[in-house]
Amino acid sequence: IDLSNEHVLAALEADMSAASHIEFNVQSITHYPAAHSPAHAVLNPADHSDVVGHVAFIKPEAVADTISTAIAAQTSWQQTTPSQRAAILRKFADTLESQKHMALLMMMAGREAGKTLPNAIAEVREAVDFCRYYADETERLNLSAPLGTVVAISPWNFPLAIFVGEVVSALAAGNTVVAKPAEQTSLIAHLAVSWLHEAGVPTDVLQLVLGAGDVGAALTADTRINGVIFTGSTDVAKRINTLLAKREDNPVLIAETGGMNAMIVDSTALAEQVCTDVLASAFDSAGQRCSALRILCVQEDVADHMVEMIKGAMDELVVNNPALLATDVGPVIDKEAQDNLNNHINALKQIAPYHEVAIKSTAASSTFVAPIMFELKDLSQLKKEVFGPVLHVVRFAAHELDDLIDNINSKGFALTHGIHSRIDGTIAHICDRIEAGNVYINRNIVGAVVGVQPFGGHAMSGTGPKAGGPFYLQRLSTLDAWDLPVLDYP
Ligand code: NAD
Repeated sequence: IDLSNEHVLAALEADMSAASHIEFNVQSITHYPAAHSPAHAVLNPADHSDVVGHVAFIKPEAVADTISTAIAAQTSWQQTTPSQRAAILRKFADTLESQKHMALLMMMAGREAGKTLPNAIAEVREAVDFCRYYADETERLNLSAPLGTVVAISPWNFPLAIFVGEVVSALAAGNTVVAKPAEQTSLIAHLAVSWLHEAGVPTDVLQLVLGAGDVGAALTADTRINGVIFTGSTDVAKRINTLLAKREDNPVLIAETGGMNAMIVDSTALAEQVCTDVLASAFDSAGQRCSALRILCVQEDVADHMVEMIKGAMDELVVNNPALLATDVGPVIDKEAQDNLNNHINALKQIAPYHEVAIKSTAASSTFVAPIMFELKDLSQLKKEVFGPVLHVVRFAAHELDDLIDNINSKGFALTHGIHSRIDGTIAHICDRIEAGNVYINRNIVGAVVGVQPFGGHAMSGTGPKAGGPFYLQRLSTLDAWDLPVLDYP
């Protein structure tokens, strides 16, 4: 959908507005009725007076039945051919892409997760790309030896793309799936699963369980499951890993977790380009991306100029309700996230100079956090992932480059980093030394580009294989790598 085309935009806005007053009342989608707690209200993070819907969470003790159902459904799903499964995923992708459904999803991504319109469009597109890519992959690999039953647990920050990516990869490989989205974004996941069922996935092959961490813990503790696909925080991934490691049958764990991502800018970098890329990397999605820029390292001789330029660009950011087209930065997901960020921000404000953007929203109750840039002397204040619109700038002298990289590596994450330089030797040197799953050179730091740029990290950032890449489905099957066709992949 081209937002610069006014006819397209008007039609989309009409569809979104028609959908914006619907109140969604949902509970888990299980093959047999399951016990649920009383429903609670879901509030729009940009304006708590907007009740988006009501959600009832499943009781943790009820999830064992969903696993039994998924196990009983394995044989019939395994007997489908890769092409039959691929056709269902492509039909679902068509549904997501149709204007009416896309408008509903975008409206929901805004009201439930605080996504701006461009972010919401990107979210739907990425979900579509995952469906088509894994559909192609299961046909290419002719997959017919699934793990069995897989639990898919996802975060709220890409409530559609990551949720759909996890679910359709497992289904494409022939697994039956019990999916648990983040507790903050049950509604959008409910829409996706309803449409996957409409597209032809049987209701015992894919079940949706709605709930918080206790439900995720109950699913992953069930020793009958064959694998877990998890995206979320490093702490929760460690807990799941500990549970699975106790088992002797080696269940599969694919985990995509946190990051502490840096961009190194030397004195040859093009200042305007750096400025544009820093803003997109640090503040897009209100900084709530695992790949978001947290640490900007600028060579000292250009630092004053660069920092001033970034401050000027930050002042142009519009922090407001994401339903407005002019908005650049929406709210953070909830009060807990807002409180965590404010604690970090208030502590740093005592010790470091900063530049902060004004919030334009006038909602009486909401969870906005003003984008802020701190100038730090070193990286010692940064001990854990900061998940929001907070950028930390440090300066370095040319002879300190290796120490700086070692310092970044010592944080233990290895997800995404960026380099801005016009010297090939510097770029190659940093790439060699820095620990990362993906390094972005002379551009903004982004996430997955499905099928083109597989995404994922190692160390505390994940287990691999990279999402949207050629080894992903292999990990969800019992075939050995050498049983599979040779990859024709650049
Ligand atoms: P989170 O770890 O709090 O929650 C993720 C999911 O795990 C949710 O569905 C949650 O209910 C569930 N969960 C919580 N406790 C559990 C338990 N004990 N057992 C099983 N499941 C449990 O993460 P979040 O706040 O939803 O998401 C933000 C985090 O996700 C950040 O750390 C971010 O870096 C990370 N993330 C990583 C990637 C990546 O590709 N590497 C992508 C997006 C987000």
